[in-house]
This record gives sequence, structure tokens and C-alpha cells, in this order.
Amino acid sequence: MSLRSIAGRLLVMTIALAFAGVSGISLLFAVTLETDRAGAHRLQAATALQDDISDVRATLGEMHAAVLGYLVTGDLNILSPYRDGATALEDAMTRLDGAAADVPLLAAEIPQLEADILAWRTDWADKTINAYHRSDAAYQTSNAVGSGSGLFARIHAQLSELDGLAAAEADAATMAVRQLEASRIVIFVGTGAAIVMFTVALALLLKRSVVEPIQRLVVVAGRVQEGEDVAFPEERSTELGRLSSALELMRLRLTDSNRWAEVRRMDEEAQADEQRVVNDYTELLTYLVDEREVVGAATVAIEQALAPTGLAVHLLNSSQDRAGITLKRGDIVAEDLARHTLDRCPGVRRGSSYLHEDMSRPLAVPCPAVEASQGTMACLPLSSGTERIGAIHVTWDQVTKPRSSAWAVVERVCSQAGLTIANRRLVASLEASANTDPRTRLPNSRSFDVQAERVLASRGNESVGVLMLDLDHFKDLNDRFGHPAGDEALRVFAELLRRSLRPGDVPARYGGEEFAVLLPGADLQAAESVAERIRAGLEATPILLGPGIVAKITVSAGVAVAPSDGTERMALLAAADRALYGAKHGGRNRVVSAAAVDSEGNVAPRDEAVGGNASASQEHAGAA
Ligand code: GH3
Ligand code: MG
Ligand code: MG
Repeated sequence: MSLRSIAGRLLVMTIALAFAGVSGISLLFAVTLETDRAGAHRLQAATALQDDISDVRATLGEMHAAVLGYLVTGDLNILSPYRDGATALEDAMTRLDGAAADVPLLAAEIPQLEADILAWRTDWADKTINAYHRSDAAYQTSNAVGSGSGLFARIHAQLSELDGLAAAEADAATMAVRQLEASRIVIFVGTGAAIVMFTVALALLLKRSVVEPIQRLVVVAGRVQEGEDVAFPEERSTELGRLSSALELMRLRLTDSNRWAEVRRMDEEAQADEQRVVNDYTELLTYLVDEREVVGAATVAIEQALAPTGLAVHLLNSSQDRAGITLKRGDIVAEDLARHTLDRCPGVRRGSSYLHEDMSRPLAVPCPAVEASQGTMACLPLSSGTERIGAIHVTWDQVTKPRSSAWAVVERVCSQAGLTIANRRLVASLEASANTDPRTRLPNSRSFDVQAERVLASRGNESVGVLMLDLDHFKDLNDRFGHPAGDEALRVFAELLRRSLRPGDVPARYGGEEFAVLLPGADLQAAESVAERIRAGLEATPILLGPGIVAKITVSAGVAVAPSDGTERMALLAAADRALYGAKHGGRNRVVSAAAVDSEGNVAPRDEAVGGNASASQEHAGAA
């Protein structure tokens, strides 16, 4: 029920109540007044009637008694009430006639009474008086008294009857007045009861249609305010129903927007976490040297962002023909691949990440790098510019939709990993070329010096041998066979050096046709023996310069040993140089130790040479 209709009903009921009250009271007044007046009038009339009857009876009685007295006594004085009463009787009769007019029953009796009274007066009283007066012979008192009394008794009976009727009328009037009073009480009580009932009905209507619904809304609003998840009730009243629906809608929207805010907050938290992953990874990259470490950190970041069930990393080798598995986690099925197989990976092919949403779809794009027939898979290529580094593949055993922000994080991590690995590889290759002599592929003097410093710094009580080797009469070789021949001789000697040394020994092209060797842990004797092995080896090695052209060269070597010849790199190299000078001076193709030369590099007479040809020889072979 709408409030408008409730208000309408209240208005109607109020008007009805007012109307009922006013009409009830007016009716009460009208009925009371009119009936009261009529009743009073009726009662009055009945009483007056009784009085008039009584008057007639009294007057008539007096007149009859006067006539009888006269007839008995003959005294005319006694007759005077008869004469005087005539007027009073007529008056009384006239009043009675008038009073009886309102009471039909009585009115009907009046003519007969009048006729009888008239008969009593004219036919009996007057005639009898006259006859008595004239003393008619026919007159006899007893007869006259008898007939007059008969008439009088009849009139008296009639008057008694009329009196009875008048008394009945008075009783009826009294009864009517009492009934009126009773009905007045009934109307009064009825109106009061109607007002009370109406008021109760009004209160109930207000309670049910307005107060209770509002109380319900207030209770629910309070519970909602406390944070309870409770719906506003459906109300029948149109306005309260609309209010309740509007409140419910507002509550739902509020709940909804709270939920969205919560989702957004969680989203922001997730994004902050993801950003932290990128930041941590970027920070960590600065400190990672090995590309395996870079890949390892990248996989940790990817696992944090995407939580895959499997992960594999393929990295192309230095010759770029194979992609080996560098790292594998979880349930992924992946093997080492040929370069051209990895090139068919959709991610590698596109040069950007590729998400296979559902591998069980009939038309799902396959990837040759990983076996997957269900769930979700992602191909994440590792590259730097146009240079391909490899690829990371992640799999989820269930179909998964990665969050776009997590996906962006992974793309950034992969791009940084690709760049970092490419940079590390570039730096490594630059470092290698900076430390390597391109002609002989041996470490150069810079690299040798660095390694010598390191070995000497950490040698402890160990001795360290240093050899300085210089090819003999190399200029002549160049001059005779040309520089390419000289270059070939340098390569052959470098190869000989490599073959003649243990792992851990460091050979280097120190400059021109001069070589140095670091022998960690070697004492003088061991160092001299290595030098001699090299010298003898070169001496025995023919150098093939072309079809049928073979050259032979020799090498001179100076040997110094730490700590006896010095503990510093410079001192040791100087000592080895001095010894080499001694070897050259001593005739070349020989090994001389620093201990065997004086400060000018001259060989002490007792220890001229350790081995080799003691005499200076020059054995450049001509064409074989
Ligand atoms: P010695 O026995 O006294 O050492 O005589 P030598 O001729 O070996 O010494 P010298 O210092 O007179 O000559 C060294 C020569 O080595 C001169 C230079 O042209 C040559 N040489 C240096 N580096 C290279 C190189 O990379 N390739 C070639 N082919 N020759 C080189
Ligand atoms: Mg030389
Ligand atoms: Mg030289």
C-alpha cells in the first residue's frame, strides 16, 4: 500500500470520523430536542386531558348534586351551582375537546360524551327542574332522580373511560420519553465506540503500514552500518518499497565498489610485487658475471611472476649451431636442440613472447622446443637486437591466463636477460681478444703480466718459474722466406709451447718473436727442464713452409725462479731476460738460468749452459 493511499485513507477515515461524530451528535441533538419536545408536549397534553376530564367530572358532579339537592329540597339556592356551572362545564368541555384533538382515540369518544352531557342537561336536568318548578302532576321526584342518576352514571362511566385513556396516553408519553433517553444513551455510546474503534484502526494502519516498515528499514540500516551483509526487505508500500529498493541498490553498489577497491588494492599490491621483482632482478644483474647466473636469476623472477609448473632455458652455444638446455625445472619436457629447430619456436621466430593459451586445442600452434599437449605454454625468446641468445619456455599443466602486468614483467626480465647475456658474451670476447695474440692464439704480454702477478701474489712457499724465449736469427728467416713464413714459424712454435706445458702453466707471446712462460710451482731444475724440452722440441721440429720447403729454427731461453731470483714480476722477468741475453751471447739455441749469469748477462764460466748446443749455431735449412 502506498503512503499516498495510506494518507488518502487516513484523510477519508478522518473525514468519515468527523462526519460520523458530527452527524451522530447532531442526530442525537435533533432526536433529543424534537422527540424531547414532542414527548414533553404529549405528556403535557395527556396530563392536561386528565385535568380537563377531572374538571368536567367535578363541574358535572357539582351540577348534578345541585339538581338533585334542588329536587329534594326545592331550595332554589341549592340549584345555583347548576346554573353557575353551565359556563364552567362548557369551558371545561371546550378545553377537553381541544386537548382530546391530539389523541385520536379520545377524540372519537368526545362527541358521544358531549351528546350525553347535552342530553343530561337539556333532556333531563332542565326538563326535570322545569317540571319540578311547575310542579307538573306527572312529575315524580323519585323517577326524575332515577333517570338523572342513570344518565349521570353513564356520563361518569364515559369520563372514567376517557380518564383511563388519558392515563394510558400519559403512560405512553412517559414510556416514549424513557425510550428516547435509552436511545440517546445508545447513540452516545455507539458514537463513542465508533470513535474508539476508528482510532484503534487508524493506529493499527499507521503501525502496520508506516511505523513497522520504517522500523525494519532502520534495523537493517543499522546492521549494514555495522558491516553485516544483509539485504533491505521488500516493502509493499510503494514509497517505502521504493526507498527500500533504493537503499538496497545503494548497499549493493557500495558493496560492489568496496569489492572493486579491494580487487584494485590487491592488483596494485601484485603490481608492486611484480615491480619489485623487476627492480631486484635489475639490481642483481649488475653483480652477476656468469651467463648461467643471469639465466638462473631470470628464471627465479619468471617463477615469481608467473608461477609456472615447468620451465626450460635453451642457450645457443658460442658457435651458434646448437641450443643446449642450460636450466630445467618442474615437469617440462625439453631437450638440447639444433639451432634450426630452436629457430622454429614461435617466440624466437617472432622475436617476441608468444602465449599458447590452450595446448589441447586442435589448432594450437606447436613449439618444437617443448613437448606439451595440454595446459598453457609460453615461448620467451632471449635476444639482443638481431642477435639470438636462446629462449625460455614455461608451461602450466592447467590452462592459465597470466596477469597482463606479470606478463609485462616477464617480458622485461627476458629482454634484460637477453641484453645482459649478449653484453657478457661481447665483453668476454673483447676481453679474450684483448688478452690474446691473434696470430698465435696465445695470451699476450698484458694477460701474461696479470696472471704472473696473480700467481706470484698467491704462491705462498711455492716456487714459480719464469722462462723468456726468443727465436734465434728470426730476422734472417723473414728475410729469406718472407714474413708469412715467419708467421708460420711463430704459429708452429706456439703450438709446440702448448704441447710442452702442463695445465696451469701459462705460455704467452710476449712480443715479436719473443715468448714467456709462467710455471707455477716449478723450481729452478723443473723450469730448466721445461725450457730444455721446448728448445729441443723446436730444434727437432721442421717447419713446413710450402711444398718441398722446410725450415728449421732454434730458440734461446732464459730461466728465472721465484723466490731465488726475485719475488716480483718485474724482477723475475728482468732476471729471465738477463739469462736470455746470456743464452744469446753464449751462442743461441740454449737454455741459461739467471743464477748462471752476472748482472751484465754474461755467463759464469762454470755454468755456461744447461743444455743444447753449446756452440752458437745457425741452422737454417734450405730447401730439402
Ligand atoms: P737474434 O738471434 O739475435 O734474436 O736475431 P733475430 O734476427 O731473431 O733478432 P732481431 O731482433 O734482429 O729480429 C727480430 C725479427 O723478428 C725482426 C722482425 O721483423 C721479426 N718479427 C717480429 N715479429 C714478427 C712477426 O709477427 N712476424 C714475422 N714474420 N716476423 C716478425
Ligand atoms: Mg730473435
Ligand atoms: Mg727478439
